[in-house]
Amino acid sequence: MSGRIRCCKTDHTYTLSATCPVCGKPTAIAHPARFSVEDRYGKYRRMAKND
Ligand SMILES: [Zn+2]
Repeated sequence: MSGRIRCCKTDHTYTLSATCPVCGKPTAIAHPARFSVEDRYGKYRRMAKND
């Protein structure tokens, strides 16, 4: 369950805060992999791995 975990795009820090505890910049929602743009290419690989 990924809930509302957020990610700093600058240093890739994962946090629940709206701001990065490392650099102080705003964080973005860490989207589940199935919503990733790259997922279309990794779909069959994910199926093979069974997540
Ligand atoms: Zn940061």
